[in-house]
Amino acid sequence: MLVMKFGGSSVKDATALRRVASIVANSIQEQGGTVVVLSATAGTTDDLITLARSAARAENCTSIIERIADRHRAILSELAPTVLHTKLDEVLSEFRSYVNALSVLGECTDQSLDHVTAFGERLSTTILHTALVDAGLPSTYFDVRRVMRTDDAFCAARVEMSDTLTLVGGLLAPLCTTGQVIVTQGFIGSTKDGLTTTLGRGGSDYTCAILGSMLCSREIQIWTDVSGVYSADPRIAGDAQPITELSFSEVREMALFGAKVLHPDTIAPAVEAEIPVVVLNTFHPEDHGTRIVGLASSGAEIHAVSIVRSCSLVRCNSLIADQLRSTHVINKAIILESKSIESSMIVVHTSTSESALALEVALVDTGLIVNRVVLLAVTGPKVMHQHVMSNIVESLAPYNVFCISSGSAEHTIFATVAEEQGNEALRSIHDLIRHHH
Ligand code: ADP
Ligand code: ASP
Ligand code: MG
Repeated sequence: MLVMKFGGSSVKDATALRRVASIVANSIQEQGGTVVVLSATAGTTDDLITLARSAARAENCTSIIERIADRHRAILSELAPTVLHTKLDEVLSEFRSYVNALSVLGECTDQSLDHVTAFGERLSTTILHTALVDAGLPSTYFDVRRVMRTDDAFCAARVEMSDTLTLVGGLLAPLCTTGQVIVTQGFIGSTKDGLTTTLGRGGSDYTCAILGSMLCSREIQIWTDVSGVYSADPRIAGDAQPITELSFSEVREMALFGAKVLHPDTIAPAVEAEIPVVVLNTFHPEDHGTRIVGLASSGAEIHAVSIVRSCSLVRCNSLIADQLRSTHVINKAIILESKSIESSMIVVHTSTSESALALEVALVDTGLIVNRVVLLAVTGPKVMHQHVMSNIVESLAPYNVFCISSGSAEHTIFATVAEEQGNEALRSIHDLIRHHH
């Protein structure tokens, strides 16, 4: 039994989807079946959110709707030139009517927003399923909303695990053993009343882990556009390398602190079920990728460095610190805090204008300076060892470092560095990882 998920970059166009089809075809012999979980095509979720917002302003949405529709029709035509677009056109016409209705009403609640964004995954899965069938591969389209039961916290719905487990056992599991590849959606779910919900941005990984654990997948495969979890974001450190094996808790910490390869919650269901998660490259399927397991056996000291941008650092007395913590918006965004008896250092993730404004307001009249910083998170099994820590400190010597702290995370050391030096400081720490290997 195998559950595999392909992210937006793996389904972005016909070329990518051809890769997906060939990877899926290779697992057709899998004992116990194969379930393929897809994201929306790259950029589509963003486009759908923009679309829903303009519908809410009662704007004419025809051109955005048709751009999204054309893109999907073009992908299917290129992928399977002779196939009929029956199923795709059905979903597209439902899409048009829904969005047009919203723009007539001129409103878009979170509930409608979820209904709109869900079309992204419904379209990508419809395309892949149609193409697989056209290529002669036995495949079943499965609407994941039939089993992914959530509460009604639209846009960030919580999965109701026991109901979902019952539904998966009753409706999805029996299909897995029919020899058909099941194609289904990540990211979306439904309430018990049948309203469409979404699990939060990047939620497809979570869907994959939930289905993987409930179906007892032998491993959970996350297919993306890089060959695993890298020692740093390859866009910042060009010489970053995939890490062969990582522990669940390290990946969780990396994901929480900027390494956006995996949704942090992905890990939970897989950890509980003790199922390894493997991150693989759709465009280089032969690469080893990264294996994420309960306890990693690697001898490395440092595995990775990641970066959280748009942070604000404030040093203040404990009175002001209390005040910051009691401001809900700020408290929610505090990413690091360290305090001594009478003073505190607080790092707030001011990535939204709301949190930046709240911080400004809270500090007005205090005369305190807000330093714009990035948070670097250095992760590895031995980062807490003394010689490793001193190497990290040394590698940061040329930079304007505000603090180095071990925080509460088990495998991570944090450094806050002046914003404009973030990338350079990251590369300097990354050199330590490289030299060690
Ligand atoms: P998908 O479309 O498959 O969901 P994402 O764009 O969400 O893929 O995640 C993959 C991207 O994450 C990579 O293309 C890479 O640029 C970025 N990334 C950031 N940090 C890391 C890291 N430490 N290792 C690998 N990729 C990383
Ligand atoms: N399509 C959704 C998003 O872009 C979910 C995902 O890709 O995991 O956030
Ligand atoms: Mg993703």
